[in-house]
Amino acid sequence: MKIICIGRNYADHAREMKSAVPATPVFFMKPETALVTGNRSFPHPEFSTDVHHEVEVVLRISREGKHIREEEAWRYFRKIALGIDFTARDLQHRMKEKGLPWEVAKGFDHAAPVSKFLPVKRFGDIHNLQFRLDVNGTTVQEGNTSGMIFSFETILAHVSGFVTLKPGDLVFTGTPAGVGPVKAGDRLEGFLGGIRMLDFLVE
Ligand code: MG
Repeated sequence: MKIICIGRNYADHAREMKSAVPATPVFFMKPETALVTGNRSFPHPEFSTDVHHEVEVVLRISREGKHIREEEAWRYFRKIALGIDFTARDLQHRMKEKGLPWEVAKGFDHAAPVSKFLPVKRFGDIHNLQFRLDVNGTTVQEGNTSGMIFSFETILAHVSGFVTLKPGDLVFTGTPAGVGPVKAGDRLEGFLGGIRMLDFLVE
């Protein structure tokens, strides 16, 4: 199983990161060991003092696909979830400055909490789907999938041109603005289409 993540897929987040809006989807991967399920607590790693939350809609791949056509891409996922692309921003900045890969900032253990998966049908129009993250009861990130630069279908078409997608693979589809640091004791609650999907603590 692999976890594929799309970067800079909401223009407001690209702006807050002072990053250019990409012309094609930018992707990177996290290892299977980053996955956390069942709303288990997130242990804040000791190697970073600036771990940021990035709330994202996550697709679960349901069939194998290579060179998927955009028009056919809807056939490759049946369930979606909400996830957090935890990012050690301090390490990421250091690596970016040196022009080095930033896996260390994205792929560490527990860096990918994911909620339960629900059928796409449950959400109505998934191209106009609200989601948000609350930290300690205050909404910090709010997005709608209609604000994606690259749609779910465009993402799967693009990624599968390079990497074969297999059943069970997860695709994080990018975060809206409002990313920020978490600390021990914080409670993170994520909502997708009004359904509470994530509710866990940072320890
Ligand atoms: Mg992200």
